[in-house]
This record gives sequence, structure tokens and C-alpha cells, in this order.
Amino acid sequence: MIPAQDVAGAAAAADIVLRNARIYTVNDSQPWAEAVAVRGEEIVYVGDESTDELGALIRTTTEVYDLGGRLVIPGLVDAHTHPDWVVLSAWHVTLPWTDDVDEILAFVRQYAAEHPPSEVPFIYAEYYPCTLFDVGGPRKELIDAHVSDRPVLLQDQTDHCSWVNSKMLELMGVDRDTPLQIVPGDPAPEFVRDENGEPTGWVKEFAWLQFADKMYDAIGWRLPTAVTPELLRGLTGFLVSKGVAALWDADGVGMDATFAAAAEATFAAAAELDQRDELDVFYHGSRRFCSLSDLPENIAVLREWEEKYGGRHVHLDAMKLFLDGSHETGTSAVLEPFITSQDDRGELRMSEDDLTACLLLLNEEELDLHVHLVGDRAFRTACDAVERARSQLGGAWRIQVTLAHCELIDPGDMPRVAELGIIVNWSPHWAGGYFSAQSLEYLGPERFDRMYQFNPIIGSGGVVCFSSDVMNKYEAHRGDPFFGMQVAHTRVDPEWPIYPERPLREPASAKLSRADLVKGYTLNGAIQLRLADRIGSIEVGKLANMAILDQDLFSVPDDQMRSVTPEAVLFEGKVVHGSLTLP
Ligand SMILES: [Zn+2]
Repeated sequence: MIPAQDVAGAAAAADIVLRNARIYTVNDSQPWAEAVAVRGEEIVYVGDESTDELGALIRTTTEVYDLGGRLVIPGLVDAHTHPDWVVLSAWHVTLPWTDDVDEILAFVRQYAAEHPPSEVPFIYAEYYPCTLFDVGGPRKELIDAHVSDRPVLLQDQTDHCSWVNSKMLELMGVDRDTPLQIVPGDPAPEFVRDENGEPTGWVKEFAWLQFADKMYDAIGWRLPTAVTPELLRGLTGFLVSKGVAALWDADGVGMDATFAAAAEATFAAAAELDQRDELDVFYHGSRRFCSLSDLPENIAVLREWEEKYGGRHVHLDAMKLFLDGSHETGTSAVLEPFITSQDDRGELRMSEDDLTACLLLLNEEELDLHVHLVGDRAFRTACDAVERARSQLGGAWRIQVTLAHCELIDPGDMPRVAELGIIVNWSPHWAGGYFSAQSLEYLGPERFDRMYQFNPIIGSGGVVCFSSDVMNKYEAHRGDPFFGMQVAHTRVDPEWPIYPERPLREPASAKLSRADLVKGYTLNGAIQLRLADRIGSIEVGKLANMAILDQDLFSVPDDQMRSVTPEAVLFEGKVVHGSLTLP
């Protein structure tokens, strides 16, 4: 360690000084500064640029950079994302976005011609619009006419329905004798049949997954599950270039063995990058559990993974739980019934009693809890459970509970975030509508217009942090925090406006301020990751994690916020993107 004072009593030299800057510190006691000095990985000065204190830090060895008045913000935090899913979708083929069936088929034909079966034994391409076909759905013969030498699957825009060719049905052994009821449930997986009982090639709710192994055996190929350091670096490198200094991986285990293997491989890849000093971001994450009874065994797995992969920037620090489903599929837990049914209030996947018991156990283990929930009943249940656990434990309560998504909250429950010390985590790039229009069918207009409202929570002193929650390569670019900031500040999605003729996602009063967005993407995210003593603001003693922006985020026009990008990114005093020598 370099002593703060050298033998002569003068302060030790800074390595880097950034001056002539507009530094937005996210430190309430000193919101703005002109200069910042860095020694090693730490910030040693924040303030005016003409002070004696700063002068004493500048020696011949100090690199001083004039930032030409540019805006500097703390390193950003993406507090809920899915790097493994994004990496796993890398092999999918992207269809042209069109409602011309012939154009889609011509594309698939061309792709197959350029990539022989020896290279691409299974063509998996997405997405085609749901509106392409009538209620009978698409037919396998349409694809067969273009590609019949190997299985082809085209995925529709909702990700719930697929269109396959005859070769794929054949290799899976699916024909008119395949039982109609594959897996009981609502909605049930299904191979749609024609009037003669023959599968048409239209597949609903992933019915094909039940037969995929047979097909994979036949073609001698399997889904890629290898999340290598290089593949992961592709994603973390993108986030680093957008100023992200920390992320929280919300997976911990996926839908099946493939995804479970991928989740562990992702932490292994992050650990390897960290050891090579190529991670350049804090990588924290979770392990999922489903019930009070499987919590202990999953805590054991989390501990094992932490032992294996935990390191300087990698930590498995919380357990993850799904408390309900989604509004778009009518599986959220809501206080009042959906408009589709008199008595259906959706699914709560854990009772308040069990959740309280889980919290007591987690408190004993000193492990934080991260809860997926979208409905107002799930939100209230989580608050009630926290309230009970806290009152039972009194001063012994020491864990943090983060409620992720929180799309619909009863106004009466909003002050409870601050009262109970809960953290709310939400994804700002959803604010313009994006996929949520389908929830209107279940929630009805009154509740639909109450979704995504966080100003009352912020106003009452609650901690709200932000995340991308991106799941695949197509939306990975929306993981750019500046994209999220624009959408939440305008309530207009520049790519998928809720209604083209009326792009504003109501109500306008729910637009978030730029200052609240920056705080939610920095300090509040750092609080969720328990890193607030080291990152999240530009303060003396914290790590030198900063983004030097090409435009002023606070004055750029609303519809250009997403074009703001870092010209340089510092992570622990090291330039990890761009250059400090600015034009
Ligand atoms: Zn998620």
C-alpha cells in the first residue's frame, strides 16, 4: 500500500487527475465537482479544480486530463440480467422482420444453401409475426418446399409457438399416433392437427422440447451449452463499453438441465475472466429455489458455487425466488380477479407463511433474497412476510430483500418499500410498453394504466434500482443503460411503441427524472449488491469507477438520451474502454 502521506508530510501523488469536467457524483453532500483525482484504484480527491489540496496531489508522474467540460458519472449497475441466456441464444438465426411469408421462406432457403447440414444440422430461426397466419396456423409443407434435408424450426414473435417442417416431425417421431395430451396443464403443449389427425407443423407451448432428444440423437448434434469466457466476454465487454461497472446475474438455475449447466458454466467463465484480469466488472449472482423445503439444498449449492467461483469481483450473494408468473400469460398474482374470469386471481407460488419461514432461515444464513414478482397480490404478500419476519427478529434482522419487476403495485403498499427497507428493482426499458401490451387482456385498462409507477416509491424514500433483464441476443442492445434511461424518461419505446399512433405509455406522470434514473443505475444498484461502500458514487475512498460521456446526459434532448455513450470508462482506476485523451 502507498501511504497517504509521504515522509515530507505532503500527500502522495495522484496517478490520474481528471479536470475541467462536470462530475455528477451521486453523493448528496457534494452533488457536483470539477475535478477528481485517482491513486491506484481509489478516488483520493473530488472537488474544485483550483484548490491547494488538488495541487499537492499533482506531481510529474501524474497524468492530468482536460475533459473539455464533459459529464462524468459513476460506473453503472445492471442489477438483474441473464448473461447465460443471452450467450445461449447466440447460435439462433435471425429472420428478416416482415409479414411476407415468401420473403421469410426465401431467406430460410438461402440460409440452408449457404450452410450445409454438416455445418448447421438444425436450423432454428426467429421471429415471424403472429399475424402471418389465420387461426389454423402455419403448415409444414410451406417449409418443406424450401428445406427438407434437415429439421427446421421457426419461432413466432411471442416465443410460445413454433412452425416446423416435416423432417423435424419425422426425426422426433411425432405423427398422428402421438398422444394429444403431452404434458397436462393450461396452456398445454400441443402439436396442432389437421382434420385427419396429422400434425400440421404448428407447435404450441414448446411441445417439441419433449421430443427433442430423439431428434438430436438422429442428427448427432446437441444444443450448445458451453458458456465460454470468450462468449461471456462478448456480453460483459458490451456492458463495460456502456459504462457498466457491476451486474447481477439473476439465473442460478434454468428451466432444465441444459440451462442449469449453462448457469454454472457462466459463473465459471466469469471467475476465469476475473483471474485473467479481463472481467472489468463486478459479477454477482444468485441461486434459485422454489419452496421452503428445497431452500436448504439450494443454499448448499450456492455456498459450493461461491467456494468454487467466488473471487475478487465474482460473488454468489443471494437466493432467488419466483413468487408469481407474468401478466402477459395471466399467471401473475393479483388482488382483484383478471377481467377474463370472475374468480381467477392468478398464481402465488409460495404462501405468506412459507415465505416468512424462508426469510427467517435466510436471515440465519445471512443470505439476501431476490424475488421475481409482477402482480400487486405478490407484492403485498412479500411485504407482509418481510414485516412479520422483521417484527419477529427485531434487531437481529440483517438481510436485504429485493423485489424485482413489481409491475403492478397497490398505491397503499408503495410507502412500505421505505418503511420495511425493501429494495425495488425494475427494468426501465420496459416503460414504453414493449411486450406488456398483452397484459391488457388480463388486467383490463384501469390496472394496465397503473403499471410501472415508481415515482411515489422514490418520493417516499424507497430505494429503487434498475436493471436490463435482457434474455436473448435480440434485446441484448437494450441492456445499454442509456437506452433504458430514455425509455423510462419518455415512456415511449423507440423500437416497439405501444401503439404506433399513440406511442406514450400512460400515465405521463410516471416518467422518471434523469437524476432518479442515474441514482437508480448507480448508488441504488450498488446497495442491492452490497457494494455501496466501494462503488455507486464518486467519493473519496471509493473505487475509481467512472464513465466519461460524449454528451451531457442532463441536457441532451429526450429522444436522444439513448445515443449518449461513454468516450472512456474507468474501472478501479484503469481505462477499460476508450481513451482519456479526448478530441
Ligand atoms: Zn429476469
